[in-house]
Amino acid sequence: MMRVFNKNQSISDFLESLSTQNFSVGFVPTMGALHNGHLSLIKQAIDENDHVIVSIYINPTQFDDKHDLDKYPYNLEEDIKILKTIKNDKLSLFTPSNFEIYGKNISKENFNFEGLDQHMEGKFRPGHFAGVATVVKKLLEVVRPNKAYFGEKDYQQLLIVNKLAELLKFPISIIGCPISRDENGLALSSRNSRLSTDDRLHSSLIYKNLLLAKDQLFTTEIANIKASVQEFFLNDPKMELEYFEIVEADNLESTSKINKNTKYRALIAVHISNVRLIDNIALN
Ligand code: AMP
Repeated sequence: MMRVFNKNQSISDFLESLSTQNFSVGFVPTMGALHNGHLSLIKQAIDENDHVIVSIYINPTQFDDKHDLDKYPYNLEEDIKILKTIKNDKLSLFTPSNFEIYGKNISKENFNFEGLDQHMEGKFRPGHFAGVATVVKKLLEVVRPNKAYFGEKDYQQLLIVNKLAELLKFPISIIGCPISRDENGLALSSRNSRLSTDDRLHSSLIYKNLLLAKDQLFTTEIANIKASVQEFFLNDPKMELEYFEIVEADNLESTSKINKNTKYRALIAVHISNVRLIDNIALN
C-alpha cells in the first residue's frame, strides 16, 4: 500500500519511525502530471534506498508567468494511479498544500548561486530559481532525505540544487538522472500534454538540432554552430527560439573556444503553440 501524506507533521512522524530503523530515504520532488521521465527517477530512487518519498506540489513562487501557473496540468488522481502501477511498498507520496509549505506568506528567499542563476532560464524567467530553491529547501527540511533525485532535463536547476545543498550544508547527495525522451527524441515533459500530435512530432526537431550541434563540436566554430541553429529556427514555421547556448557544463559560462579537457553542454528553449519547451545535451 502506498502511503499518502499531506501534512508536514504526519510525514515527519512517519520519517522519524523510518530513521529509528536506520532506513535510508530517497526523495523525488515533482510538480505532478507524471510521465516516464518522473518514473525513471522514482525507479532509480527505489533501487538505491530503503524508502522513497515522491512529492507532488505545484510551487507558485517558481512561476514568473501567472498564465503558465494557471495552465500547468494537474491531475492528482491520475498521478496516484500511475504511482500505484509501480506496486512498491517502499513508496510514499507527499502532497502538501500551499499553506503547509509557505504558511500565510507565499514568498521566495534569495540565495547566492555564484552566477549559476544569471544565464538562460534565470535570464528569461526572472525569479524562477529563487522560487525553485525556496521550495526545494522547504521540502528538504521536511523530508531530510539521504539522497534527492533531479533530472538532467532541467540541467541548470540540477546545478543550482547542488549549490543549494552545499550552501545549506545539508548531509545529502544530489543525484542527477538522465533525460527520458519519446520515440522521436522529444524530451518528456508535463507540458507536452498541451501539444497537439502534430506539434509533438514537430518538436522532435529540437533534439535533432542538439544532436547536430554535438556532431559539429570539434569541426565547426562555436559561433557558426550557434548561427546555424538560430537560422534553422528563423526558418521554422512553427517554433520560435528563445535561446540556444553552448556552455561549460560545470559553471554554465558560455564559451567561444573548445578546450579538450573541459565538459560542454548545449541548452535550448523553444516556444511552440504557446508552450515553452526546454532541452539540453552533453556535447563531449
Ligand atoms: P517537474 O515535475 O517538471 O518539476 O519535474 C520533476 C523532476 O523530474 C525534475 O527533477 C525534472 O528534472 C525531472 N524530469 C522531468 N522531465 C524529465 C525527463 N524527461 N527526463 C528526466 N527527468 C525529468
